[in-house]
Amino acid sequence: MSYDVIVIGSGPGGYSAAIRAGQYGLKTALIEKWPKLGGTCLHVGCIPTKSLLHTAEVWEYFRHSDDQGIACENPRLNYPRVLQRKDKIVSTHANGIELLMRKNKVQVIKGHGRLKGRGQVEVTGESGTQVIDGKHIILATGSEARMIPGVEPDAPRIVTNVEILKAEAPPRKLLVIGAGAVGVEFASIFKRFGSEVIVFEMLPRLVPVEDEDVSKELERQFKKGGIQCETGAKVLEVQKTDVGVRLQVQLSTGKVESFEGDMLLVAVGRKPNTDDAGIQNTRIELDRGFVKVDSMQRTAEPGVYAIGDIVAGTPQLAHVATMEGMVAVGHIAGKPVKPINKLRIPGATYTEPGIGSVGLTEKQAREQGYQVKVGKFPFMGNSKASILGSHGGFVKVVADMKYGEILGVHIIGPHAYELIAEAVAAMEAEATVETMMATIHAHPTLYEAVGEAFNSVYGLAINA
Ligand code: FAD
Ligand code: AMP
Repeated sequence: MSYDVIVIGSGPGGYSAAIRAGQYGLKTALIEKWPKLGGTCLHVGCIPTKSLLHTAEVWEYFRHSDDQGIACENPRLNYPRVLQRKDKIVSTHANGIELLMRKNKVQVIKGHGRLKGRGQVEVTGESGTQVIDGKHIILATGSEARMIPGVEPDAPRIVTNVEILKAEAPPRKLLVIGAGAVGVEFASIFKRFGSEVIVFEMLPRLVPVEDEDVSKELERQFKKGGIQCETGAKVLEVQKTDVGVRLQVQLSTGKVESFEGDMLLVAVGRKPNTDDAGIQNTRIELDRGFVKVDSMQRTAEPGVYAIGDIVAGTPQLAHVATMEGMVAVGHIAGKPVKPINKLRIPGATYTEPGIGSVGLTEKQAREQGYQVKVGKFPFMGNSKASILGSHGGFVKVVADMKYGEILGVHIIGPHAYELIAEAVAAMEAEATVETMMATIHAHPTLYEAVGEAFNSVYGLAINA
């Protein structure tokens, strides 16, 4: 069989690329080795975690319903039902993707895909091995949890994002290694479900890729909410015990201490799936396992593109995978395309409070020699945040004084991951701080805090 485009991997990168190729009238095949389409994001990433997070929020409302003047005695958590709800959301969307494939005339082939030679992919599935030809191939094989050397998942004691989502009950005491987005999200979810939680992070702060002020605020809020945060702490050894796990940790003071819990979540980063995709049969160049691409997502092998979590140099996020897919297919179809601009990629971390960010941090902007001016507005001064009972955090704008250019926006607070949208659009449209100061924000809304932060660059916020 011969196709215009063969996509390997059906995560948000691969399935979106296949749909777009179908929309452009290209004869397209999508290869997936898992029984269902959707990848990490749908099955063991973005979607199930946010479903649990939503239920954890609802649960917290019930537990503190008195604050709202609602008597709700003895609320009971039915965790198996919580898991069922999550699974239903996932399967509904997985079926939706299958439907979209049919709608866009994408041929789905179930099996493990490997690049074979110029323009060829070998697919090994239940019914044997076949070789298909493609004028263009898009590699979108995604990533899996990285492990600490010598440690393997062993549920229910040692888990990654995959096993923890199936745990029959919230752990009594959860130890989390790694305070990137995955680690802090699970910490936040299970704290709210009643687990005792300790987070260990080797670097000096939580969410190390975020602006330093955001990390500080998250640590403050985590500690206030009862999550123990051990930053600058290196996990030296992981031992299984009869009832759980024991860690030997070198703390920031240099002292080595032991910590016990009934579940350990390893969240130390994501490894690209590039070792069993036939890359050795091509000219594709790797950088520590990640695929090197140009601005059109082309690899060094003619006709082969790479998108998503396997790509070197862009953050491992679902929306990045999707947009890289749009760039690759647009280029294949000869349409005008804009390459990915790393400074316009929103980050979204679903903790309590949430985090949304885009562009340069204050430190990066200073290091790059801009005339930096910072505006900061606390949610304390925002009436909608008070109505929601969630007024921790702030909006921080990093601007360049020369032209009023918006260099970065960093939000920690209620629905920060939604609020960041305004900043991304403003930066994409190259709006200045002044334009955003003159932009009318509806009242009472959380996003008024974003407008106020732009005003505070000039010391002109009204409610602070
Ligand atoms: P993936 O989603 O990893 O999909 C790759 C697919 O390729 C898989 O289905 C796999 O089975 C298949 N495959 C691999 N090799 C082969 C092969 N040789 N042949 C056939 N098929 C193959 N990102 C966000 O933007 N927002 C979030 O809220 C968010 N939350 C997350 C929470 C967790 C717990 C985790 C782990 C990740 C989260 N992410 C989030 C990251 C997001 O899941 C990834 O960035 C995204 O899934 C990457 O998409 P992808 O298409 O590159 O690959
Ligand atoms: P991310 O790659 O963003 O998901 O984040 C993973 C985090 O895990 C990074 O912040 C790492 O510094 C951290 N990390 C990696 N190895 C260890 C370790 N042995 N102990 C504590 N933290 C670690």
